[in-house]
Amino acid sequence: MDKTLPKRTCLICRRKANKRMLCRVVRTTEGTVSLDATGTEPGRGAYICLTSKCLDSTLIKTNLERALRTTIGIEDKDLLVAQIKENRMRFKEIEP
Ligand SMILES: [Zn+2]
Repeated sequence: MDKTLPKRTCLICRRKANKRMLCRVVRTTEGTVSLDATGTEPGRGAYICLTSKCLDSTLIKTNLERALRTTIGIEDKDLLVAQIKENRMRFKEIEP
C-alpha cells in the first residue's frame, strides 16, 4: 500500500483510511448533496466507509448534515445510501 496517499476519516465510525477506501459525498455548488464517485467534484466533501455497518447507521443523516453544513431530506439520504451501495460493488474486496 502506498503510505503517501492522503487519509480521510469516516464520518460514522471515525476510522481513518486511505481516501480510495472511502466513499466521498459532496455538497455541490448548487447546494445539493450527492455521491462523488470520482472523488474530484468541487464542493464541501465528507467521507464514509463502504461497509454495511457504516452505511446502515442511523447517524448518517445527522453526521452528514453536520459535516456538510446543510440539511438533507430523508428521501435524499435514502437515495444517497442506495447509490453508495450500488457503487460499492466495484470495491467489494475491501469489505472487512
Ligand atoms: Zn466508517
